[in-house]
Amino acid sequence: MGEEERSLNFIEHIVEDDLANGYDKSHLRFRFPPEPNGYLHIGHASSICLNFGLGLRYNAPVNLRFDDTNPAKEEKEYVDAIKKDVAWLGYEWETECYASDYFQQLYDWAVELIKSGKAYVDSQSSEEMAEQKGSPTEPGKEGPFRNRSVEENLELFEGMRNGEFEEGTHVLRAKIDMASPNMLMRDPIMYRILHRPHHRTNTDWCIYPMYDWTHGESDYIEQVSHSLCTLEFLPHRELYNWFLDQLVDSRKLRPKQREFARRNLSHTVVSKRKLLQLVENGIVDSWDDPRMPTISGLRRRGYTPESIRSFADTIGIAKRENIVDVSLLEFHVREHLNRIAPRVMAVLNPLKLVITNYEEGKEEWLEAENNPGDESAGSREVPFSRELYIEHEDFREEANRKFFRLKLGGEVRLKNGYIIKAESCTKDEKGNVVEVQCTYDPKSRSGSGTEESLRKVKGTLHWVSIPHAISAEVRLYDRLFTDASPDTHKDKDFMDFVNPDSLTKVTGYLEPSLKDVEIGDLFQFQRLGYFNVDSDSTAEKLVFNRTVTLRDTWAKLEQKS
Ligand code: ATP
Ligand code: MG
Repeated sequence: MGEEERSLNFIEHIVEDDLANGYDKSHLRFRFPPEPNGYLHIGHASSICLNFGLGLRYNAPVNLRFDDTNPAKEEKEYVDAIKKDVAWLGYEWETECYASDYFQQLYDWAVELIKSGKAYVDSQSSEEMAEQKGSPTEPGKEGPFRNRSVEENLELFEGMRNGEFEEGTHVLRAKIDMASPNMLMRDPIMYRILHRPHHRTNTDWCIYPMYDWTHGESDYIEQVSHSLCTLEFLPHRELYNWFLDQLVDSRKLRPKQREFARRNLSHTVVSKRKLLQLVENGIVDSWDDPRMPTISGLRRRGYTPESIRSFADTIGIAKRENIVDVSLLEFHVREHLNRIAPRVMAVLNPLKLVITNYEEGKEEWLEAENNPGDESAGSREVPFSRELYIEHEDFREEANRKFFRLKLGGEVRLKNGYIIKAESCTKDEKGNVVEVQCTYDPKSRSGSGTEESLRKVKGTLHWVSIPHAISAEVRLYDRLFTDASPDTHKDKDFMDFVNPDSLTKVTGYLEPSLKDVEIGDLFQFQRLGYFNVDSDSTAEKLVFNRTVTLRDTWAKLEQKS
């Protein structure tokens, strides 16, 4: 990956400027802060590559911080999946941290804020509070509890913490400015009551801190130097700084928040909430369904960490939101798999072919290269016999001169094997071709002479020997959504654009070398695409996913521009 050649992104420029202005390099520290309320998706991969990439560039530690402040939506299952995904992408975190580890510290600081008159307990309903909040053009109004005494506030907050009140009866609010032009500064909520067990702190707490209060203070506790988040947090930066102002010790490092644009991918959605909806409504089978834009879905589908990292590196970091075409991601996976995936032959839409002048019962083992671009990949042998499968689309009774595949009276080479000529075909009662009878030229075998002595024909077809073939379920995928940006339509729900044909299952016939594959193994099925062995495979039944087709539309686009 041309890591050194590419120019710095604007976040790296910010760090470079800090270093140039005397910032101590040994103080650099970053974090990736997922909320464990779902599986990571390709958008997160950008954030992971950014933060861990900075760690590698500056030899600085990167924490994996679970932002686990909402017990209503978070689970250990998600924590485990997130750890697996980050590690699989190839990154190592310095410390595994949890915002929930800081609940006591955050509580103590909140008590300090109350004591200094910077926070108060509000006992209104959420509707009343919303009414007083004003609008972007209209200042808010101060509520009746805003000027409670410190003693009363301390007593109520302790009562909240001790479980004396029901949900929704009180909240703790920062006392900032109900007239601030920034709505987020109009006395934001710091704590709410939630009588819910937490996946880590269990029933220790029944009040939970809000995101804004938690995030910056967690950065401060961990002494994160640059806290990078997505653009929607830009207006939160003022609040981030206000909270830090109340408690920062000037001898310690003060974190700074900087924002970059969310990455969206075409023909899918990158929001955990929406992805959860796809799982819960049975549109997909699971979070790691190979059609999902989750890291786990891409992994199961056959995407490699290298291809995802080089994709993230290529799209880089932006200041404005846009949609990246999924074909660019496919370009990166195709490019990597082209280098590493062994070539094999498989037929997905079989048509029987009988070689009438080939001895019955005879078999030959033909040498086949594993990767024409990589000699070190070696070769294997594939069996040849009188009865073969080719793809249905590769035969026509009649066709014009541009059809380089097999037609009656025409010749093609069978990959790694002989030249054959189609002599006749058999049809069923509906007129569909069900068998093709051919003859072969015994002197035309690939590798049997020098290149020059071999007769040339225009077309080469892949094939498998019927008596030797093994069968497998092969899953072919199309886009999960029919629209490029399904969640940006004003009067339509993204679910309206679900592609009903995103999954097709067929029975494939594979060369016998594929008998001992393992889950995750990747191959190029020649002329059909890249495929991997799905985790649904068992000793009785092999299941393959098509990772990506061979067609390289992106490269064509690139050549044009
Ligand atoms: P979602 O909307 O999918 O739930 P989120 O931002 O709420 O996303 P978090 O778990 O809070 O999810 O995100 C962890 C980190 O990843 C945050 O720093 C967030 O800004 C970043 N991130 C999330 N989605 C994207 C995206 N599409 N592109 C880039 N970074 C993202
Ligand atoms: Mg979030």
